[in-house]
Amino acid sequence: MPAPTIRTQASANPAARIVGAGQDRPLREQDDYLLYRRNAAATLAEWGPPARHASMEFPTTLIKAVKGTRDLLPPSTEVWNRVEAAARAVFHAYNYHEIRTPILEETQLFARGVGAETDIVTKEMYTFEDRDGSSLTLRPENTASVIRAYIEHRLDQRPGVQKLYYIGPMFRRERPQKGRYRQFYQIGAEAIGSVSPVVDAEVIEMVVELLGRAGLAGFELLINSVGDHNCRPPYVELLRRELKGVAGSMCGDCQRRAETNPLRVLDCKVEADQPIIEKLPALVDHLCAECRAHFDAVKQSLDSRGIAYQVRPRLVRGLDYYMRTTFEVVHGGLGAQNSVLGGGRYDGLAESLGSKMAAPGIGFSIGEDRLVMSVESAQPAAPLELLIAPLGEPAMRQAALMAREYRRLGLSVELAEGKLKRLMELANKLGARFVLIVGEDEIAAGRYALKNMSTGEQESLADHEIAARLTAAARN
Ligand SMILES: [Zn+2]
Ligand SMILES: [Zn+2]
Repeated sequence: MPAPTIRTQASANPAARIVGAGQDRPLREQDDYLLYRRNAAATLAEWGPPARHASMEFPTTLIKAVKGTRDLLPPSTEVWNRVEAAARAVFHAYNYHEIRTPILEETQLFARGVGAETDIVTKEMYTFEDRDGSSLTLRPENTASVIRAYIEHRLDQRPGVQKLYYIGPMFRRERPQKGRYRQFYQIGAEAIGSVSPVVDAEVIEMVVELLGRAGLAGFELLINSVGDHNCRPPYVELLRRELKGVAGSMCGDCQRRAETNPLRVLDCKVEADQPIIEKLPALVDHLCAECRAHFDAVKQSLDSRGIAYQVRPRLVRGLDYYMRTTFEVVHGGLGAQNSVLGGGRYDGLAESLGSKMAAPGIGFSIGEDRLVMSVESAQPAAPLELLIAPLGEPAMRQAALMAREYRRLGLSVELAEGKLKRLMELANKLGARFVLIVGEDEIAAGRYALKNMSTGEQESLADHEIAARLTAAARN
């Protein structure tokens, strides 16, 4: 697609228009930066650097990250990587394999897969019209995409239960608040192709292992069964009848949901509504025989695996395709408990996406932002093992060779330049465990001064002794 032809700058000429690529409209102030970027190369070629071109204006406002998004910076990114590495290791151990679906999907997928009436779909999606008129959406979650891919690529024909995991960004236009972002990250997994309660228990066990390996302690596992198309509709009717008498004294959301989606009344967090909700009938007491047996089997399997859980009858999901097992992990030392992850069985999802073949599955998604926040304080950043201080230009060549040798051993090594006093200060600020001094005398003698920054101890060692000393220290 050709870039729009730029006639002039918006700020310099109010009558300027942007034309080309199917567009013909007046230039707006915001176009300036875009135009500058698109034209920078051409401008430089024609007129030299932009600063020397009289009519080239740079944007005057400082550009910042989009509201509700954030930059992940070091050393925090180390924790993100460690959490993700722990997750991948656990997924590997349970024979899960990674799936990467596009961030862009047809809007229809989420309207049908997440539910047209949900807050996510009605209020929070980033939806836009593509140039060909089709409606696209930045994925607000990933289960619908995974099931779409499962159906599209006929993964049901592969052997065994399909066990897929994903790690990546999702997008929802929520009201920005602490710990909630419009671009947020999820670690999730789906086990597709089985209705067995043993699969449910294994998925839950994997979640518990994963959170522990990632460094989260003191979390609680909550489980429930939300029944199926057989026993849930009569329960919802019962709930609707019960609510008729009490909804009038509940919050506005509850009054509305009592009509539209009574199950979601059970979700309400309003303090004054809690005593009323406590007295409502529980779905877990109205399961049909099959759902009851399935739920009992899941609990027994968790018991035999030694996994602690609590049954929470109010743990429900408002969408029709959710069935039977549903679970949540909450965490929070003091006061409010935060949900770290939610999961459940969605045996009817494939059909609601228009698939003729069934794809019963169970999965979960972890809010990675919150998980990282919970474990971040407990884990110090990975240390810099060594700072090499070469004294002068000839020493730099030897120092570079030594740096590469130690880096190949997997050590984290910084090769710095400057006066020795400054380099020692830098080593302190970077938290380096050792400093290696490489000067011309050391090179001639083949022995180098290695300083342990925590003890202050300094030794004169040959190259191979240094490597052994560093790798031994890195293991501790
Ligand atoms: Zn309420
Ligand atoms: Zn049932």
